[in-house]
Amino acid sequence: MAWFSEPDSSTPRAAKHAERPVTLHNTMGNADEPFASARPGAPVRMYHCGPTVYGPAHIGNLRSYVFADILRRTLEYNGFSVKQVINITDVGHLSSDADEGEDKMTKGLKREGLAVSLENMRLLAGRYEERFKQDLATLDIETAGTQFPRASEHIAPMIAMIQTLEQKGYTYKTSDGIYYDTSRFPEYGKLGGIDVAALKEGARIEANVEKKNPADFALWKFDDALGFESPFGKGFPGWHIECSAMSRVALGEQLDIHTGGIDHIPVHHNNEIAQSEAATGKKPFARIWMHNAFITIDDEKIAKSLGNAIDLDELPKHGIHPLALRYYYLGAHYRTPVNFSWAALKSAQQALLRLHFLFDQMPVNAAAEPIMAYQQRFHERINADLDTPGALAIAWELVKDTSFPAPAIRATLLDFDTVLGLSLGAPDAQLARLIIAEFGEIVPAEKLSKTVADLITAREEARGAKDWTKADALRAQVLQLGYALEDTPAGPRVLRKEIVEQEEREADTESDPEGSL
Ligand code: AMP
Ligand code: ZN
Repeated sequence: MAWFSEPDSSTPRAAKHAERPVTLHNTMGNADEPFASARPGAPVRMYHCGPTVYGPAHIGNLRSYVFADILRRTLEYNGFSVKQVINITDVGHLSSDADEGEDKMTKGLKREGLAVSLENMRLLAGRYEERFKQDLATLDIETAGTQFPRASEHIAPMIAMIQTLEQKGYTYKTSDGIYYDTSRFPEYGKLGGIDVAALKEGARIEANVEKKNPADFALWKFDDALGFESPFGKGFPGWHIECSAMSRVALGEQLDIHTGGIDHIPVHHNNEIAQSEAATGKKPFARIWMHNAFITIDDEKIAKSLGNAIDLDELPKHGIHPLALRYYYLGAHYRTPVNFSWAALKSAQQALLRLHFLFDQMPVNAAAEPIMAYQQRFHERINADLDTPGALAIAWELVKDTSFPAPAIRATLLDFDTVLGLSLGAPDAQLARLIIAEFGEIVPAEKLSKTVADLITAREEARGAKDWTKADALRAQVLQLGYALEDTPAGPRVLRKEIVEQEEREADTESDPEGSL
């Protein structure tokens, strides 16, 4: 089959860090497993179920991609190279995973007052694909080399795969489409241990009486008005065949790691397995399946229909920088459910700002090497199924450890940040402003007026003479002139607390007309 080919392998990157085992939790088998490359030297093939581009991604969706990013960065930290795919679903995803309900793209068109046509679907998809990629960049998600295949551009390989399944006897036709016969795939439901016998269609609004088994699903849905031409009739591919076909085009018949949110376990991923393994003659589709737990709001599902979907555009309205959201995600292990709150996100931002502030004060020394003992502990944590809360805790312990020289602490934090992705040492303008607003700006000695400099010297002398009353009075005078003093072992640090909220707002509108923050 010409459409599907094995990718070229490439040489592995030289491991920068000592070799330590990576353990990942595999949903297939529900256990932690040591990770090793299936094909030494070749990149790790990773497929992440991508967004349906009918609207902006919400903070739940985005957790999935920060998780995938930490996975990529961790593998790279361990010397692996990766070949990554995030598909773009721009056709064929119905509101319910079980082939029921309205098509999501159609829903998006109606919401935006656009007529339902293939052309408008492309327009809508293009808009939200772009937005999605911007969101990834805003959250510091690495996308160098990542492929983003679009479903609408892979109709031919999807048709080819459905034909293979047809030839092998896995399909049947109903009045509304071509269906996969799950009874022909006895292992159906093996991911997550789904009890197929217990599957009932009763709960569904529009039970499809033509289906032979409750778990059967559409490979192709007929649509005379709008669909794509195919040997089966005009219509749309089923949502599940998209991932089976696109992953195979981009990465070959077998993947190393496949990820998504836990909602994909019972239906979508079991369907992908059924399709791919039936088509390839039972070759295991993915070696490792990883799933992130859900984010809820007020203990409820996040959904547009519930009016509680928070996207990245909401953050600036609450004075939150997008990297605070990233920090917030990292504060919980990816398999831990999180009930979102603005208060918790604000605390995450406080911690992020503080980390930056402390980091920025550590002097740079190009010759400084990361501290091995800390690096080892960090490495062990992140290799333990991506224990980001544990890894962050080590970063905090390090920041407070005064037994090491600051430049070495700085070098170690920079090393950690290759995985954490918190822009240490390189905050963007908005983050830099928030840090100053929170902690004040450090004023270098040469920029102080003579009056202030003399007062500070006099205070140091008073402190030296243990004349605390005089020292305090001098400090108060300095404060009146707009400067706060913070005493450190290296001498007083002078901070200027000058940014008021009004200035912040003005600066925001001037420098950021699009209002990203
Ligand atoms: P979708 O666009 O609905 O296919 O979702 C994109 C990704 O986000 C998938 O991996 C979903 O499993 C995941 N996802 C959806 N909702 C949430 C949520 N509330 N929390 C975490 N992940 C989610
Ligand atoms: Zn998928």
